[in-house]
Amino acid sequence: MPEGPEIRRIADALEKQIAGRVIDSIRFGLQPLKQWEQRLTGARIKDIKTFGKAMLTRLQTVAGDELTIYSHNQLYGRWVCCDTDDYPQSKRQLRMAIDCQGKSALLYSASDIAVLNKDELLQHAFLRKLGPDVLDKATMAEHIVDRLNSDRFRNRQLGVILTDQSFVAGLGNYLRCEILFYCSIYPAVRSRDLAKEKIYLLADTILKLPRQSYQTAGISNDMDHAQQLMKQGSSFEESRFYVFRREALPCYRCGSLIEKISQAGQACYCCPSCQQVL
Ligand SMILES: [Zn+2]
Repeated sequence: MPEGPEIRRIADALEKQIAGRVIDSIRFGLQPLKQWEQRLTGARIKDIKTFGKAMLTRLQTVAGDELTIYSHNQLYGRWVCCDTDDYPQSKRQLRMAIDCQGKSALLYSASDIAVLNKDELLQHAFLRKLGPDVLDKATMAEHIVDRLNSDRFRNRQLGVILTDQSFVAGLGNYLRCEILFYCSIYPAVRSRDLAKEKIYLLADTILKLPRQSYQTAGISNDMDHAQQLMKQGSSFEESRFYVFRREALPCYRCGSLIEKISQAGQACYCCPSCQQVL
């Protein structure tokens, strides 16, 4: 599943494609949404926000109403940008097609789509539950420190809460593995067991790695090291991570072999030497 940085990069590409434009035609693949097609025709697309892994396409209709198309890619959703006269051949189900003055944005396979007014947006069950967005510049390390120290989160395993979108929004499995490795924290450790300096390091890293990954199209590894690896012939995929999907390969810090364990129902990669249980 794409994580916060990947979703924001998709949103950037969509903004470039359709933001500021007027909708000539919009079609929904899901029957309950078809009622919106007429009302949204002629609307101007203001911008595309992201909140964690959710995408919010904000519109102003011809009648002057402010509406938002909420969409969540989940596992299978896929956005495509193309010219209106050049839709790709695809066996996937087209769930939303927005045509704007020759440019189109197509959403395939996703089923979690809704058109919301301002009140409905505030009340939206998924959005309401989200913690602070790691890519939002307004989210500061102090906010994360407060959450790590809160009764709600301090007693739970860090490997579990990092991908809990109510803790912070935007982290998925690769960022969880990378953040814990960076901080030398074993996934089963709880924040109640961490020294104060470690809590601060963890809070900083929870913001630092997704922001770096967003800026670099997916590199959470040390940048200099990743570039060095690529110069030496490693592929981008082989170079971008500290530990994620590096099972049985040597740790870049200590040479121990990276292990794959199960955490919160997903594979979690970690170094058995660098990331010790306290
Ligand atoms: Zn190590």
